Amino acid sequence: MDEEWDLVVIGGGPAGSAAALQARRLRPDARILLLDRADFPRDKACGDGIAAHARDELAHLGLDGIIDDYRPTPRLAVISPGGARVEAAVARPNHVVPRTVFDARLIDAARAHDIEVRRHRVRTLTTRGGLPLIDDTITARTVIAADGANSTVRRLLGLPPSPDRHTAIAVRGYADVPADDDTQLIAMQKDGWPAYAWSFPIGDGTANVGFGMLLPRLRATGLPGRQVLHGRLAELLPHLPARDLRAHHLPLSPGRPRPGAGRVLLAGDAAGLINPLTGEGIYYALVSGRLAGQAAATAGTDPLTAYRHALRATLGRHLRTTDALHLAAQSPAFIDAAVTTAAHRPEVFDLLVEVGLGAGTVPPPLAWAVARRWLTAALPLPGRRHHTP
Ligand SMILES: Cc1cc2nc3c(=O)[nH]c(=O)nc-3n(C[C@H](O)[C@H](O)[C@H](O)COP(=O)(O)OP(=O)(O)OC[C@H]3O[C@@H](n4cnc5c(N)ncnc54)[C@H](O)[C@@H]3O)c2cc1C
Repeated sequence: MDEEWDLVVIGGGPAGSAAALQARRLRPDARILLLDRADFPRDKACGDGIAAHARDELAHLGLDGIIDDYRPTPRLAVISPGGARVEAAVARPNHVVPRTVFDARLIDAARAHDIEVRRHRVRTLTTRGGLPLIDDTITARTVIAADGANSTVRRLLGLPPSPDRHTAIAVRGYADVPADDDTQLIAMQKDGWPAYAWSFPIGDGTANVGFGMLLPRLRATGLPGRQVLHGRLAELLPHLPARDLRAHHLPLSPGRPRPGAGRVLLAGDAAGLINPLTGEGIYYALVSGRLAGQAAATAGTDPLTAYRHALRATLGRHLRTTDALHLAAQSPAFIDAAVTTAAHRPEVFDLLVEVGLGAGTVPPPLAWAVARRWLTAALPLPGRRHHTP
């Protein structure tokens, strides 16, 4: 039997749940259907790191406190590809919540707000009477596709997938750590750069550990992906043997995301929204999902234009910043300079966290401070003393 909905959301990760919840907040009477190919709780390969900025987004959606039973992680340590190290308290603590728990809580919240959640794998998307038609049976005034990194809907819309140079691949697992370990560790690797391992303690005597690198660099090794990812993880974190290893692609933001076509809006990983410097995607998923839900609920016949404008206003400058930094960061010496600068200047550390985990931008004086250190290290002039204050 054919069905008609005001909004159909495809994908029940953070982007999809945020979209459905925001549409519900703005349109209490709307008929909203959320489809996911999986039953919840379901696992998702992820570092499980939920930045303070993502927590702000949860509050926007009326979900304050939803992760407060997890201990905040107050400290962050970063080791650069060349071995520079900075470790400090973050201005606002992050959380680490396994995605089996986090995503299921978001889905529960959606159900509690009268959003119909149904297990259904979407295979086709056409149009009928000018409206999107899903699998020949479900029509919607607006569709929000939040179906993740390998988005079926993005492909069905004819939009290209994330290009290889903007795609990373990462493996995550879980390891035992001391229960009082309260420091998120990011250990970068020069070999195959950009590449890094992480350990994100959950607070219960385990940590999410993992390793990721750019897809072209992985291919350049000529070795099976599994061998490289698992091997590098074991090499970089030898004291943290990992279990439950699981890998996935990360479509890194190219600076200007593709927000969809017609009455179909893309959010989260489906839009290619992952921070290219850190692999953070949950904050972007929640923001873009919220903005897509808002456009679907309020923009009448042209939700795509409203969504595009809202995305640009909220993340535009930040995404252009991370795109430029991603280019500079192809040189490991640039990251060495940034980490060394952050080790000397707490305000720089805080700013880098804003750029890596939130919607921060880089003020020109900071860009200059890092560039000067980078150039000084890269171009030591004959007869000049090498100076790294
Ligand atoms: C190894 C790894 C580590 C990471 N670490 C972090 C981290 O620590 N912090 C962070 O912020 N980000 C991290 N990320 C990125 C983060 O996981 C993603 O950015 C985030 O999950 C995006 O959310 P989403 O809702 O867009 O997509 P997803 O969470 O992938 O959800 C997509 C949903 O769509 C469903 N779906 C897919 N296809 C269909 C279909 N055809 N029909 C119906 N349903 C479908 C799936 O079942 C899934 O539930 C990491 C990624 C990886 C791979």
